[in-house]
Amino acid sequence: MGQLLYLICNKNKKHKKGFLLGTGMLFPKLYTGTVKKIKKGKYGEEIKKFLEENPKGAINCNSEIVRCSKCGNLKEVLNLSMYVPRKNNKDTNDSYVSPWKLRGKYKKVKEYKHICPKCSTVMKKVKIKYNEFGEITEVEKLKCPKCDGFAEWDGEIALWD
Ligand SMILES: [Zn+2]
Ligand SMILES: [Zn+2]
Repeated sequence: MGQLLYLICNKNKKHKKGFLLGTGMLFPKLYTGTVKKIKKGKYGEEIKKFLEENPKGAINCNSEIVRCSKCGNLKEVLNLSMYVPRKNNKDTNDSYVSPWKLRGKYKKVKEYKHICPKCSTVMKKVKIKYNEFGEITEVEKLKCPKCDGFAEWDGEIALWD
């Protein structure tokens, strides 16, 4: 199940943005749809080529937040890191690979570069801490993209599926 969180500016409560994190029930559909888009080149040449050269390769389709270090833009994205099966992994015929399967049975070979749509800078993953139950406990302190305040997590999460 995924988690929905809001980041709210400490100077202006109207600067509020919601992000869906993790994976939902529609994950298999999301995964196959994303692979199709990658193969069509929608996410650029590098990742397209990766799937062409690695037919058993997998993509991390976990939803995350990235931030632009230049303009402060915050964006919800699919991680899109590229993985290949580990040598002892015989189980590579699934139509989709979940993030928890990636962790055990695949090896990360390349990270996808998310480019800021506003200023074309490479965006960085926002650091989020989770407890042993997979619940969010802490979100990195972020500048508000709209003013000089900080975009803070209000401590609430909602679940989505
Ligand atoms: Zn930017
Ligand atoms: Zn603000």
